[in-house]
Amino acid sequence: MTIQELNSETKQILENNIDSVRKSISQHIKGKDITLLAATKTVPATVINYVTKELGVTDIGENRVQELLEKYDELDLDGVKLHFIGKLQTNKVKYIIDKVDMIHSLDSVKLAKEIDARAKKIGKVMDVLVEINSGREENKSGVFPENVSSFLKELEIFENIKIKGFMTIAPVCIEKSDYRKYFKETYSIFIDNLQNKQHNISMEFLSMGMTDSFDIAIEEGSDIVRIGSAIFGSRYN
Ligand SMILES: *Cc1c(COP(=O)(O)O)cnc(C)c1O
Repeated sequence: MTIQELNSETKQILENNIDSVRKSISQHIKGKDITLLAATKTVPATVINYVTKELGVTDIGENRVQELLEKYDELDLDGVKLHFIGKLQTNKVKYIIDKVDMIHSLDSVKLAKEIDARAKKIGKVMDVLVEINSGREENKSGVFPENVSSFLKELEIFENIKIKGFMTIAPVCIEKSDYRKYFKETYSIFIDNLQNKQHNISMEFLSMGMTDSFDIAIEEGSDIVRIGSAIFGSRYN
C-alpha cells in the first residue's frame, strides 16, 4: 500500500496526534531540543512512511528484529534515523547491524562484543545507549544503576561501538508522579558520566519517557522520548 492509499481519516488522526504530542513536549522543555522518536511496533510501513514523509517525524524505533526485517524494504528511510529500542538477542545482531543508526538496549558485555565484532566487519562504529534498569526489576533487562560504572569500564575494550548515552524503561506506575524517581536517578547517572573520558564514550542522549510518562521524563532531563500509542493509537499496540 502507498501513502496515497491511506484513508484521509487515518491521516487526520495521525496529524492531530502528532500535533498534540509536539505541543505537550514543547510545554515541558527547558530550552533544549527533544527528539520525538516514534515507536513503530505493529505499525504498517505505509503508516510509518506517512509520518516521516508528511508529518516531519525524523526518528523511528522498532523493537523486534523479525518485524524490522519484514518492514525494512518498504520503509523510506531517506533522512530518517532508525533506532532499535527492544531487547536484542546476540544471535540477531547480524541482521540489523547495517540497518540501524542506534541501538538503545545494550545491557551485557556479551551483546557489546557481538555488536562490536559485527560492526567491525562492515567498517562501522555503532552508536549505542546503555539500558539502565532504573526500577531494579529482576525480570527486566538493563543494567542496575549501581553497576553502570563498572559496566562502562568493561566496554572499554571495544573499538567499534560508541556509547552515546543511556536509555531506561521505567516500571509501569499507576500514579504518574511515581515515574519521577526513576528518571531522576537515570539522569544523575547521565550527569555523572558527561565528563567521562573513556575513548568510546561520548554522552549525548538520554532516552526516557513513553506515552504515559514523557512529560515527566522531559522535566527530568530526557533528550529522546519514545512515543507509540499517543501517535498511532492503542489499536496498534
Ligand atoms: C512500545 C515502546 C515504546 C512506546 O510505548 P507507548 O507507551 O506506546 O508510547 C517505547 N519504548 C519501547 C522500548 C517500546 O517497546
